[in-house]
Order: sequence, then C-alpha cells, then structure tokens
Amino acid sequence: MSVQIAATYDVQTIRADFPILKRRVDGNPLVYLDNAATSQKPRQVIDALVQYYEQSNANVHRGLHTLAEEATEAYETARAKVAHFIGAEPESLVFTRNTTEAINLVAYAWGLANLREGDLIVLSEMEHHSNIVPWQLVAQRTGAKLHYVPFTSEGELDMEALESLLRQEPKLVAITHVSNVLGTVNPVQEITRKAHAVGAKVLVDGAQAVPHKLVNVTQIDCDFYAFSGHKMLAPTGIGALYARQELLEQMPPFMGGGSMIRKVTHEFSTWADVPTKFEAGTPNIADAVAFGVAVDYLQRVGMEAIQQHEQSLTEEALRLLEAEEDIVIYGPRDARKRCGLVSFNFKHVHPHDVAQILDKRGIAIRAGHHCCQIIMRRLDVTATARASFYLYNTLEEVRAFWKALDDVRKVFGKYGGR
Ligand code: PLP
Repeated sequence: MSVQIAATYDVQTIRADFPILKRRVDGNPLVYLDNAATSQKPRQVIDALVQYYEQSNANVHRGLHTLAEEATEAYETARAKVAHFIGAEPESLVFTRNTTEAINLVAYAWGLANLREGDLIVLSEMEHHSNIVPWQLVAQRTGAKLHYVPFTSEGELDMEALESLLRQEPKLVAITHVSNVLGTVNPVQEITRKAHAVGAKVLVDGAQAVPHKLVNVTQIDCDFYAFSGHKMLAPTGIGALYARQELLEQMPPFMGGGSMIRKVTHEFSTWADVPTKFEAGTPNIADAVAFGVAVDYLQRVGMEAIQQHEQSLTEEALRLLEAEEDIVIYGPRDARKRCGLVSFNFKHVHPHDVAQILDKRGIAIRAGHHCCQIIMRRLDVTATARASFYLYNTLEEVRAFWKALDDVRKVFGKYGGR
C-alpha cells in the first residue's frame, strides 16, 4: 500500500517560498533531507532579516530614539510569538544562541547553585551530546552523579528503568523530547509527572520536537525546555530556553554584563527582571525578529498539518527501506511513534560512502554519529545514515532518495554478492 499526502496540504505552494529549493547540485534538483541538522529558510524569514537591517536596526532596551524603540518592540514581539508558540508567557522565555546554550544556561545557573555531592542527575542513552556534556561538566564541579536510562531494542525509552532510577529521588531528569537518531518521541508529560512526584526538576531538550509537532510546555509541566530556531525555519544563532518564572527568579545569572543589571556599585550588582537577567550584552536582535517570523510561518501552515505531512513521508521511507534486505533501520517501526526522520545503514557499506554517492544525485542526507556517540555504542555502529524530513519535502523526494540507494549497490556490489 503506498502512502498519500492529504489533499489539502499544498506542498508546492510551501516549496515556492523556499528559494534554496530551486538550487541544483551536480546538475540535479536539490533534494534536501538533512532537516534534523538545520532547516531551510522561507523568503519571509530572509526578507525579515533584510527589512530589519534596512529599516529598524538599533540596539534594544536602552535607546530613547525612534529606531531603538522600534528595534525593542520588534525584539520583544518576537519573544512573545516564540513563547506563545510553545504555550508559555514571554517572561518565561530567554533568547539563547541555540539549544546547546539553553541547556548550558540551566546547567551552570541552576545546576551549580542546586546540585551537591552525591545528588543524582538522570539522563537517557538517547541524548544528544548537548544534553550530556554540560551535565558531565557540572557533575565534575559539584560531585553529582549521572545515571542513564537505556532504550529498548525497539528504540523506545525503558520506562521501567526510569522508574527505578526515580525511586532514588534524583534532583534532575534531563531528557530529549524527540531523538535525533532514533526519531523516537518520548512521553515527556508522563516523565515530568513521575519525576515531579519524587521532587526532581525536569529539563526537556526540544530541539527535534518544536519544529515538527505542537508543543505546549504548560501541558508538559516541565521546568525547563530548550530549542533552536535554525531547525524551525529561523536563522542560525538564535534559540530559546523556557523556564518556570519562579525558577528564573531564583537562579543566579549565567553571564554578567550590560543589560542584565538593575544597579551596579563598586562592590556588587543587582539584576534586571527576568528574562532580561539572562540576556547579558547586546542580543541577537535581527535573528530573534526573524525567529518570530518563522513561527508565524509555521503557524500559518499549522503544526498538526506539518506533523501529519511528515508522518506520511516517514511511513513511505520506512515502507521502502524495510523491504530492502541489505538495509538495517534504527528506531521504532511505527511512524506514529516517531518524528520525521529515519536512520539506517547498509549492512555492507559505510554511511559516509552512502551520503557521498547520494550527493552526486543532489540528495542531501547526513551520515555520522549525529552527536550521539552513546547511541552509536548501543547500536554497535560507529555511524548511521539519516534522512530527515520537513514541511517542504515531497513523497517524490522520498522515492528519489530510495531509488538513489541503487547507485550505492552499483558502486559497492549487492550485499552477499547477489
Ligand atoms: N538536541 C538535539 C536532540 C539535537 O538534535 C540537536 C542538534 O542537532 C541539539 C540538541 C543541539 O542543537 P544546537 O546545535 O542547535 O544547539
């Protein structure tokens, strides 16, 4: 049975908004399937950057002239848009460079102030390095201990193992919403409820969730939620941390400098209100403004429609790859348990070779450890290939990707010499 796209989803109109999709690579139309690394940008977002620099550029928060007021208004409007997009209030949303910086902010500002020797931090084995390394650094400084929840052979979080770790009353559970390798969507609302019941704080890494599905942090009820603009149509260099307002108020600043203070004396300083307390120095104003425009774009298409569209693409990719004897697929087989990506390997070809051969057809996929060396060790591989989809990809592109895998067999021969 072949998959169909909902008749109401106008993927060609969406594609027309993305100038880069008209590019050719080696004479072939670009098929961009590396969206989990970063997404492409629509004309509206690119225009917002140009318009900001041509019309309103000034520093925010401290000027009294017209441009400074316009820039401040645009920056704060963007904050409100991004906050509302995830069901939060603007006071709870700190602009950061990306997910990595958002998690580091929590690790250093909350972690160093709250973690003591012997305290337990629970992570999972499906975390991206950006939700592992900051906690390792903080554990080294505080004496806290890290424990990892494993995932099952189906690529799902082992909830029994999580519950057994929760019985040890950790101080923090830091978990990814969606795995960037397995595609697994974790039950973060249930995890938060269970973690709160034992007094733990919960941080969710939403880098692969917010771009692809409706996320409501108030419903999830987590304490911290981190995500990146560049994976959801916005420019690079802008991301966000949601945190409960009372936590932001209790936490010491992450960095000191201009803008984040109320008063500075020879001996001490006091802090601006949140979230400004966590935005030292001149922020990334233009990219934040464009982040707001990216969010407008996603809302216009509709997150539920985008999720459904990506699910159709994922189902088709899984269906086609599953039929291949020489290919191993990682993560849940049921597309409803995933977001729009599929990691796989040829049984006899290194994924770097696969990615290079596909590139000759203009097909961009990623190959490597995807910043998840712990997952690679669990899967007993050094790397995987990964095709990841977004709102502008088509079923034809998924099929072109699958067909191009024959080029790999032409170069390396068929598995088992058939
Ligand atoms: N977390 C996950 C699950 C990711 O996939 C990524 C990036 O691929 C990150 C965190 C880090 O995102 P950034 O590099 O934008 O900080």
